This record gives sequence, C-alpha cells and structure tokens, in this order.
Amino acid sequence: MDRRSVVKGAGIASVLAAGLAACGKKEDATPVAPAAPVAPAVSTGSEIRWRLASSFPKALDTIYGAAETFAKKVGELSGGKFTITVHAGGELMPAGGVLDGASNGTVEMAHTAPYYFFGKDPTFALDCAIPFGLNSRQMTAWMYQGNGLKLTREFYAKVGIVNFPMGNTGAQMGGWYRKEIKSVADLNGLKFRVGGFGGKVLAKLGTVPQNIPGGEIYTALEKGTIDAAEWVGPYDDLKLGFNKVAPFYYYPGWWEGGPQLSLYVNQKAYEGLSAEYKAIVECAAAFAHTEMQAKYDAKNPAALKTLVGQGVKLRPFPNDVLGAAFKAAQEVYKELNDTNPAWKKIYDDYSAFRRESNLWFRFTEAKFDSFMQSQKL
Ligand code: CA
Repeated sequence: MDRRSVVKGAGIASVLAAGLAACGKKEDATPVAPAAPVAPAVSTGSEIRWRLASSFPKALDTIYGAAETFAKKVGELSGGKFTITVHAGGELMPAGGVLDGASNGTVEMAHTAPYYFFGKDPTFALDCAIPFGLNSRQMTAWMYQGNGLKLTREFYAKVGIVNFPMGNTGAQMGGWYRKEIKSVADLNGLKFRVGGFGGKVLAKLGTVPQNIPGGEIYTALEKGTIDAAEWVGPYDDLKLGFNKVAPFYYYPGWWEGGPQLSLYVNQKAYEGLSAEYKAIVECAAAFAHTEMQAKYDAKNPAALKTLVGQGVKLRPFPNDVLGAAFKAAQEVYKELNDTNPAWKKIYDDYSAFRRESNLWFRFTEAKFDSFMQSQKL
C-alpha cells in the first residue's frame, strides 16, 4: 500500500467512525478496525459494482429514492470505489421477485416492503408492518436498540439474506372510498385494494381484499371494479389523483402505523465484503432510513392541504371500525402464534416491546403532541 492510499484509508476510517457513532448501534461500541489488512474476497479499495433491485417504480420518489440515496452514499463513502446501480421494479425482475433475486444472488441487493412476502410466511411482515403494530419511531427503536434486527436477521439467514432497515413512511392513511364508512357493517363485502398483510385482518371483517398494482388502481376505482383503495399517504396519493374518483379519505391506516422498508443483501456477497465496506453499507442504509421518514414528514402536510382544497372529504374511521379491526387482528395473531413458531418467536418480542413503548409514549410524547397540535401557531 503506498502512502497515498494509507492516507486515504485513514480518512475513510475516521469518516466511518463518525458515521458509526451517528448510527448509535449497541454493537457498534467497538471501534472500527483501521483500514489495515483485510482478508475477505473484496478488500477495501477494490472497485466493485453491485446491482440493487427495487420493488418500487421510480414515480414513488420517496420510497424508490431511498435506494438511490443509499447507493449515492455508498459511492461517496467509498471514494467512488463501491458502485451500486439501482433498478426499478420490473426492470431486472418483477417487483415481487426481489426476495428470491437477493436470496439466490441474481442481484447482490434488493429494496422492498417485506410484508409483500407474507404469502410465503407472515413472519416477513414483522420486518415491515402488521395491523396495530409499532409506529415509525417505535419500529426504529425495536430494530436498532431492541431485539428486532437480531431476530429478523436470524429469520432471514434461512434464505441467505442480511437485512437492514431502510426507510419508513410513518403512519399511512386509511385510503380512498367511493362511499362513506359509517360503521363496521359498511366494510362487509367492500372490495378494497390493500397492500400487504392488512388484508388478512380486513378479510375477517368481511372485506374482500384486492391486490392491484399502483398504476391500475385509478381505473379500477373509476369503473367501480373496486369500492376503495389505499396507497400510502397524501404526498403519494395526490400524484395518482384518487380523489377524483373516490371522495372519502379515511385515517388512520391502522394496518400500517409505521411500515418499514428493508434493504436485503445476499449473505454470501455481504460476507465477502471488507469490514470497511460492510460498515459503509450499514451507515448508508441508516442514512437512507432517516432521510425517507424526513421526506414524508416534510412533504405530507402540503399535499394534505392541497387535497382538502380540492374538496376531499377527510374522515376518521369510526371507533367501532377500529375496535372490531383490533379484535380481528388479535385473532389473526393468536392463530399465527399457535401454528407458526418462527412468527411466535419474533412476535413475542415485538409485542412486549410495543406494550412497554406505548406505556411510555402515552405520557410525554402523546401529551405534548396533542397539546401542540391544538394550538394556533
Ligand atoms: Ca399502504
């Protein structure tokens, strides 16, 4: 190693040390190894080029954008040596094919919403969102400081993937309805486009969940093929114009109180990285994780104002809907606890964390938020 690369290596090491401190993870308490000898297949300073398959279209700039942010940071932190190209859903493989793609090494990385794979195993949803689950901050706390990352990594090891939290939308909206929902009885027979695991609970209330890609929702709502559809929240929903065909906009999206996106890394590819490149992946993912939530929190307020200005009828779900849905969710969880040991192992920890976290959040956070939101500033 010549003098120049030693200096450069030290520079990267100190950037990483600072980055890791910012990550604040328990296991990162040990200092980063200096850029000195690394034996794995890819040594620090080696030029590598990886591909990342996203499950999302480029039009979802906040969600798809998290993968672009990640790739950009990896490039910057590695001095341009570690290059990742990001590919939209359908470009290299179907949006729902990225789990297999990262698992079998067709691509080194994927970015997705793990609850898409609940049909393979509902346990995937615990790495994303379940009805009446953790909110965004709680999810991040469980992953980084609770047992979330450890337990989900054990689960993903079975399919050869190393996972990292990479983005959260925050609590989503409850979707667009052609007719008003006055009580839980109005959900019976409702043909509802809903993403992910929430459909399992809605089905218990008589709702008929529909799986329709984002680009086809508008036409289905317009034609009345479906009665209602949920997507994300004001910023993304406004762009698709659902308010023109379904005037009632409900909240909250109780099936997605804090859905987290995940970065999947093929395990063999990950293990072949130098310690420094592994740290770069970890910190770039943590940066993209924070940035995505910040984008939503910054962009949703103006979008909601615009929608209300266009005559959208904003409605809270009636209490009996929330109550019945909560009860139905507990039934689904009991069935899974009784039949799926992988689910039970993670859900036990997740639900204990949720209980303790809500016990705390109901005091300072909730009181402060509700007071501030009622003030005229
Ligand atoms: Ca959604």
